[in-house]
Amino acid sequence: MSDPALAVSSASAPAGTTSPPLEAGSVRTEGLWHQLGNVPSVIYWGIHAGCLLALYTGFGTFEIVLCMSLFWLRLFGITGGYHRYFAHKAFKTSRAFQFFLAFLGCAAVQKGPLWWAGGHRRHHRYSDQEGDPHSPRLGFWWSHYRWIFSGKFEETEIDRIRDFAAYPELVWLNRWHIAAPITLALFCYAVDGLAGLVWGFCISTVLLWHSTYSINSLSHRWGSQRYDTGDDSRNNLWLALLTLGEGWHNNHHHYMASARQGFFWWEIDVTYYVLRVFRAVGLIWDVREPPKNVIRPKARQTNPKLAA
Ligand SMILES: [Zn+2]
Ligand SMILES: [Zn+2]
Repeated sequence: MSDPALAVSSASAPAGTTSPPLEAGSVRTEGLWHQLGNVPSVIYWGIHAGCLLALYTGFGTFEIVLCMSLFWLRLFGITGGYHRYFAHKAFKTSRAFQFFLAFLGCAAVQKGPLWWAGGHRRHHRYSDQEGDPHSPRLGFWWSHYRWIFSGKFEETEIDRIRDFAAYPELVWLNRWHIAAPITLALFCYAVDGLAGLVWGFCISTVLLWHSTYSINSLSHRWGSQRYDTGDDSRNNLWLALLTLGEGWHNNHHHYMASARQGFFWWEIDVTYYVLRVFRAVGLIWDVREPPKNVIRPKARQTNPKLAA
């Protein structure tokens, strides 16, 4: 990690201790106007602007199906791939399917798998404390999307993701992650012209961004806390429905290694249901579940600090 501010944060919070309280603005050093000029920000606002072309292209059944299919497919790339597999190693799979999950995640236009998963491990290490890249305590919009454009967090934190950085194909994809969204945009244009590009790529991607970003912003603000995790994480049914199960975020912060984030049958977790199908057909194995004594719904359980 080359950023001295982050290096200090890491050094000040050795394993097993609580980081000092996060100071408002401690990482929020870049103003909105400063961020507008960098490349990820131009891509972000450019794709938002591209959505306006829907006023010109109009839409029909095909455009809606294309938009929502690519939304859910790529959302799974983030929830089942980047998050539960790469960040938390909640199951095992083959090297080929691992690459497929990484490519699917790249198509969601949220940078590469090593960058995403390494940064997410940082989030769990310092949740809502000094060093957390996207705590809502730094401001709602900062936690929702602005942290992504920050120069402080633009590099891949290889030290946090050495396990997957051992695969050269993942290192390559992490560097050239933009290849996946470009391929997807060309595909959308090829199948349905400008309307395909607008609905299949621009609108689908904007819906996808704000759904997944809501876990960093809203899921640390709105909902209930079953477990005392020492952070602001919440369980929220509506966010779980929006994000294929990621809205059970307090559960997740309580026991991160689990492939299942809805701990009870009534906690809908579509990502986990898909993973069960994958396990049944042999695509993945060693799917990790939360032990019974961990999920017991005691009021405000203390975080057992299990797994990373
Ligand atoms: Zn969180
Ligand atoms: Zn996580």
